[in-house]
Amino acid sequence: MPDYISALDLFTIGIGPSSSHTVGPMRAALLFAEAVKANGQLPHTAQIEVKLFGSLGATGPGHGTSNAIVAGLSGVTPEECDPNDVLTAWDKAVTAKKWFVLNHEIVFSESNFSYQPLIRLPKHSNGLRFTAHSATNEKLLEQTYYSVGGGFVEADHELSRPVREEVPFHFESAVELLEICTRESKSIAEIAHANEVALHGEIKLNKQLEAIWVTMQSSIEKGLATKGVLPGYLAVTRRAADMAEQLSDSNEDVSNEWLQAYAIAVNEQNAAGQRIVTAPTNGAAGIIPAVAYYALKYKNIDSKAIAHDYLLTAAAIGSLYKRNASISGAEAGCQGEVGSACSMAAGGLAAIMGGTIQQIENAAEIAMEHNLGLTCDPVGGFVQMPCIERNAIAAGTAVSAVRLALLGDGNHKISLDTVIETMRQTGVDMSSKYKETSLGGLAVNVVEC
Ligand code: SF4
Repeated sequence: MPDYISALDLFTIGIGPSSSHTVGPMRAALLFAEAVKANGQLPHTAQIEVKLFGSLGATGPGHGTSNAIVAGLSGVTPEECDPNDVLTAWDKAVTAKKWFVLNHEIVFSESNFSYQPLIRLPKHSNGLRFTAHSATNEKLLEQTYYSVGGGFVEADHELSRPVREEVPFHFESAVELLEICTRESKSIAEIAHANEVALHGEIKLNKQLEAIWVTMQSSIEKGLATKGVLPGYLAVTRRAADMAEQLSDSNEDVSNEWLQAYAIAVNEQNAAGQRIVTAPTNGAAGIIPAVAYYALKYKNIDSKAIAHDYLLTAAAIGSLYKRNASISGAEAGCQGEVGSACSMAAGGLAAIMGGTIQQIENAAEIAMEHNLGLTCDPVGGFVQMPCIERNAIAAGTAVSAVRLALLGDGNHKISLDTVIETMRQTGVDMSSKYKETSLGGLAVNVVEC
């Protein structure tokens, strides 16, 4: 039986700008450093060679991949790092001409990194290969990893992972999930909660869910309070803070505009490499927090319901995308990232607004249905245009999907499982130009100056 995909896998506290190009590579680099140490090769390592393939090779520089790898090799994790230290990791290594594998200092040269955008490794388009060499250039250890979206990492070799406990309610489709809910007379959140408690225990689960919601709120509030220009040669001006000033002065109902400002705030924090929650990816990190914050401010939903019912319902839906299609822009285009997050947020919001399990499934389905075919074409390889604004629009789509679903009785023709499979097929058919390579779409039509 495949492992259960937990809410604590899909929602992780990390840093921007990209889960697949920043968080995943940082984790892969740390795994490699630990493997070198475990092999007893750390004292003999004099050089580390890093090759970035496919989408990582194409858009890695714009996504902070090199910073993340330098930081990860030194022993830093996305959860506990200081985001500002990571932002300067590459420049510091270049200036000092040295870097670290855990606590072992070695000589650094920019030529240690090579970018190979036109080579796609067989398993995934986000491939990284690390090679440790001795002072006499003897190859000590070489390993290939894949950053498969949402910060998840796989490898050519067997990765040692803790064995997962069995969960009481295993499901692999929305149909199975709804059948369990009906049989057990429980909500989706209650089923997910029982599974998560089996995996993590009640105390850890509660602590983590609350930390995730606190971090989501903090990323919104910091984003709304920060002006300036985002990193990168595109010199994109932050706008969430200006939006907040204008909206605060308004006497009209501007709840929908606030919803969009919340999403933009998170994605600006993400683009600036700051602390955010991967939900379920960084490029789409604004949607789930924005919809939750909107529910807190405008729908009288309390934080406890958000940290539990909303996040657990959203995660149960997200697990279906991860299991049966993809949450990776490099694999499925932006429908896999923003589309999945939009669907998760819609399901979560429908749940905390009192929707039945059929209305929740309908809301999640509507939200994805109208994101099908969405391509990934970040200008300059930065998770900024179209990503930031796209999160704002998708947050609005999630709320609209919930309104539509709650006006119905849950009966509908197109099922959530059908749109998930359609998204998967559309992703397979999509040209690689539109899968986080910045070789098509807006990325080639917007004049960079
Ligand atoms: S276009 Fe979508 S999938 Fe691509 S980087 Fe931006 S948010 Fe992620």
